[in-house]
Amino acid sequence: MTPIQTSQIWNLWHGCHRKSEGCQNCYVFRRDAQNGIDSNYVRKTASFNLPVRRNRRMQYKIPSGTEMMTCFTSDFFIEEADAWRGEAWQMMRERGDLSFFIVTKRPERIAQNLPGDWGAGYGNVIIYCTMENQRRADERLPLLRDLPLPHRGIICEPLLGDINFGDDFSSWCEQVIVGGESGSKARICDYTWVCHIRSQCVAAGVSFHFKQTGAIFRKDGRIYRIMRRIQGEQARKAGIDYTANHFDNNG
Ligand code: SF4
Repeated sequence: MTPIQTSQIWNLWHGCHRKSEGCQNCYVFRRDAQNGIDSNYVRKTASFNLPVRRNRRMQYKIPSGTEMMTCFTSDFFIEEADAWRGEAWQMMRERGDLSFFIVTKRPERIAQNLPGDWGAGYGNVIIYCTMENQRRADERLPLLRDLPLPHRGIICEPLLGDINFGDDFSSWCEQVIVGGESGSKARICDYTWVCHIRSQCVAAGVSFHFKQTGAIFRKDGRIYRIMRRIQGEQARKAGIDYTANHFDNNG
């Protein structure tokens, strides 16, 4: 893959529908509500063609090597976007010099919505699936495992309970990212759940990243209320990230 130089958010469409427990306090709905916007209305954004925009000299505005973080205010595989997704895939194909990071809670919709020339997958597209508790891991792990994806991983954020991944995720999962929930209605994230996931990753040789603690963090039975701006720093201080040697084993 192209070495990553910078990151850029690419919100192709805006709006979503709550899908599972992790969506309960979704920041998209929170923020839209403050502005009187109905989050359930899904629409294309003005940034839709961002990766292929050119300057007056006909050069791409987004520099080669940029990591495009897609759909932070929607879900890339949401139904309403079915008519627009083909064009999105085309842009990803055209910009083979960028990498595209997609996170979804809808792995059951991926297979039917891959482009016709996907084959074993575009090497510059990385798809992560969110699994916030055991119920969603049981549902989504087999779906994610069986897809033809060259780069894929798991996000447990907001982590709402302990999760057992089973023993076959090392052959296809590149990384597991874990984090708590933010906001005034945040639910507890317990450090024992985080450590249990980490130990499964280490045993399986899968990279692990503890991204942030969330606002309500429980450690050794004590509850800590953690301000947003230091949630990432507190997670880093735990010093439990793990990088597997064969991180690129699927590529
Ligand atoms: S899938 Fe993501 S964007 Fe959509 S409601 Fe759930 S948390 Fe929000």
